[in-house]
Amino acid sequence: MTSDTPTPLDELLRLREAHLGKALSIAHGKPLHITHGSMQYLYAADGTRYLDLVNNVSHVGHSNPRVTHACAHQMGLLNTNTRYVYEGLTEYLGRIADTLPEPLSVGFLVNSGSEANELAVRIARAHTGAHDMVVVEGAYHGHTGMLIELSPYKFRGPGGKGEPEPWVHVTPIPDTYRGGERDYAAEMGEIVTNAAPIAGFLVESMLSCAGQIPLPPDYLSSAFEHVRAAGGLCIADEVQVGFGRVGSYMWAFEEHGVVPDIVVMGKPMGNGHPMAAVFTTPEIAASFEEMEFFSTFGGNPVSCAIGMAVLDTIEEDGLMQRATELGERFMVGLRELQERYSIIGDVRGRGLFLGFELVRDRETQEPATHEAARLVDEMCARNVLLSTDGPHHNVIKIKPPMVLSKGDVDTTLSLLNESLSQSL
Ligand code: PMP
Repeated sequence: MTSDTPTPLDELLRLREAHLGKALSIAHGKPLHITHGSMQYLYAADGTRYLDLVNNVSHVGHSNPRVTHACAHQMGLLNTNTRYVYEGLTEYLGRIADTLPEPLSVGFLVNSGSEANELAVRIARAHTGAHDMVVVEGAYHGHTGMLIELSPYKFRGPGGKGEPEPWVHVTPIPDTYRGGERDYAAEMGEIVTNAAPIAGFLVESMLSCAGQIPLPPDYLSSAFEHVRAAGGLCIADEVQVGFGRVGSYMWAFEEHGVVPDIVVMGKPMGNGHPMAAVFTTPEIAASFEEMEFFSTFGGNPVSCAIGMAVLDTIEEDGLMQRATELGERFMVGLRELQERYSIIGDVRGRGLFLGFELVRDRETQEPATHEAARLVDEMCARNVLLSTDGPHHNVIKIKPPMVLSKGDVDTTLSLLNESLSQSL
């Protein structure tokens, strides 16, 4: 069945019911039957055009022609694996290494963020000889067995065990809105010191599932010092926030003047084609040489061609500059809405990775969870896709394809105003 002849929604839902596990829920509350996408827009079977403000995978736009062409062209030429020598692989690795600070020059290419984080932890363990890990409260790092145990978002959530495994140490979310101006790095340091020796600290350079939270100044630099003093490696999970999304920097850790020992990237890397990577130093990579490493699909010529097209697009279309400008435009507009509507307790973010937190009362900060879900529904009814996150699911997140326009930002702000004034 092609997108020219869409299957009726009822039938699709019946087939999902029959063939998909119930552990997978549908986005946006109501089923959206999407037939195609183009840049920042998704098109539904009934002809509705949705502005996509949540898909940070389609970084350079849904069905971006340059990416589509690179994929089709390479697929018709050669697709093999990394046991062979081909230009695409080495050129791509070199190109990513050029975006990273020295000495992060050795890359491992895999197929998903989960795989990459799993590999990063294995590398950290091989290098340090230690086993324990430190993670931030509320974090999600992937769906494999080990990563569920390293994801408080999961093990504390529905179906989870509740408490961390003995080798997992959880440090508080450095959330200056909810937690106030505390010395989060010192609290983290105490946890790390008690846990030593550790293999590493797995941390997002800007928190996503924990509630779209930029890390406070000096947090990461001081946390990294504690980790290194405890013998561990610092692993930056850039799966959500990398590839220029924060605007001013290619990698979100750069804002903090630190150089991680390992960087993990994924989601936007292949603009929807499954690609992820771990980059580290030659010295650390050397500790991981004993056991053979091979990923069947990771780094194949088609993936490399796609990855290269994504990087070319970011650079040639000035998407980081665009993220900075549009992010600022969003921030100004959201702050105006915050002045008008007391339900908006906080507005935060960098570039096109933004969040605004809804509270019932600014004093008590009671999370407006239900209202946040309703606002997302209201916006969906106005053909704008948003979603919620954070431990209380009361943070509306904005992380659209980076090809957004000023007009999209202005339309969103005016529709948010309309929704907030009419229904909340
Ligand atoms: N790290 C972070 C920060 C993520 O948000 C995700 C996915 N949401 C992952 C890792 C796992 O990536 P994947 O779903 O590609 O396995």
